[in-house]
Amino acid sequence: MSKSLQAIRGMNDILPEQTPLWRYFEGTVARLLDNYGYRQIRMPIVEFTELFKRSIGEVTDIVEKEMYTFDDRNGDSLTLRPEGTAACVRAVLEHGITGGGQVQKLWYVGPMFRHERPQKGRYRQFHQIGLEVFNLEGPDIDAELIVMTWRLWGELGLRDAVKLELNSLGTSESRGRYREALVEFLSAHIDKLDEDSRRRLKTNPLRVLDTKNAETQAILVDAPKMADYLDDESRAHFEGLKARLDAVGIPYVINPKLVRGLDYYSKTVFEWVTDKLGAQGTVCAGGRYDGLVEQMGGKPTPGVGFAMGIERLVLMLEALDKVPEELSRQVDVYLCAFGEAAELAALALSERIRDQLPNLRLQINAGAGSFKSQFKKADKSGALYALILGDDELAQQVVGFKPLRGQGEQQSIAWDALAAHLATCVVQG
Ligand code: ATP
Ligand code: MG
Repeated sequence: MSKSLQAIRGMNDILPEQTPLWRYFEGTVARLLDNYGYRQIRMPIVEFTELFKRSIGEVTDIVEKEMYTFDDRNGDSLTLRPEGTAACVRAVLEHGITGGGQVQKLWYVGPMFRHERPQKGRYRQFHQIGLEVFNLEGPDIDAELIVMTWRLWGELGLRDAVKLELNSLGTSESRGRYREALVEFLSAHIDKLDEDSRRRLKTNPLRVLDTKNAETQAILVDAPKMADYLDDESRAHFEGLKARLDAVGIPYVINPKLVRGLDYYSKTVFEWVTDKLGAQGTVCAGGRYDGLVEQMGGKPTPGVGFAMGIERLVLMLEALDKVPEELSRQVDVYLCAFGEAAELAALALSERIRDQLPNLRLQINAGAGSFKSQFKKADKSGALYALILGDDELAQQVVGFKPLRGQGEQQSIAWDALAAHLATCVVQG
């Protein structure tokens, strides 16, 4: 196939073999979000470029080098969204739904776009489920986000494979004081810093903290500590969060170097990380952004949120063998019919059965075929049972009921009794 007719590098098809696991994951998260009182919001995938520059920050990896930006036909600069928070904040401001201190607990799911180097767990189109909470400023809501993800890991069987890292970035004032101290310290060691860190020292000094360069890391050992610069309010907030996590029994480690890639965070930041995915170890990340709404032209509005990467979590479920067994079967019952009259009766019968058992996954044979070929298709479908309708069955108003996975003999069941019989032997999801 010529290259221009292939999918773009880093943008993947999610094939039918994979979608059951995606739907299982997304469905599990959606149910939890419903149960905790979050409501879904759906934003456009394209926004004005300015939105992301303003909210994410000009001097971030995303805005500096990862955005898919292009001119609209009328000359407006547009960008495929690299994350969800910016558009979500724009939407709540535009519709006034956080005005007057109204609490909003919102979530979204969908594709995000970043021009990164594609590798396992890192793509150019990837998918996030994220949430944002507005107008709640206490550590109780920060804790709720984390407790909910902890429950999610429990439901998915991933608790042993993830670790919670926490930090507090303080208020913008305390972070400002810390930034000054850090810049002063790093400036004194500037000739020993790696090139990236030297550049960041001028543009976004906190990001020097998450350098991967070993020499810079060695220098950072003696650097001022963010924790020493927290004001009382930030300190109390952080203690309040930790007390709640302790109350639920959620283990965490404090990572003083956790600064997150985006500019807008304040106070709580956290990441759920795993060592099961190689270098792409963060599966869920977020934090508090009390200054962002104001920075985007709204009234001061506290906010907190997180996003998880669906690809990475799906990879984890596969790597740890946590894919539920029942996902491998997509068909419960396969209905075979032989001859034109039987086909008509089969269609009518199948519709009656669907009325009675709305969750039954019933596949009716299409394209006719011999006994042998229809049974082959029935078996290949993964169905537990085949139903057989030929001339004899038609005359007696019964179907042949044949277990395909070795659970007993074929029997004959009256049409009127079929739904009740299926209800007893097919587990319905
Ligand atoms: P990383 O440090 O891995 O680049 P990030 O800090 O840029 O992550 P966020 O912007 O916080 O990521 O996005 C939240 C989550 O979305 C990440 O924790 C990760 O699970 C997922 N994610 C981010 N970028 C990608 C990508 N390019 N491909 C797949 N998943 C991604
Ligand atoms: Mg990144």
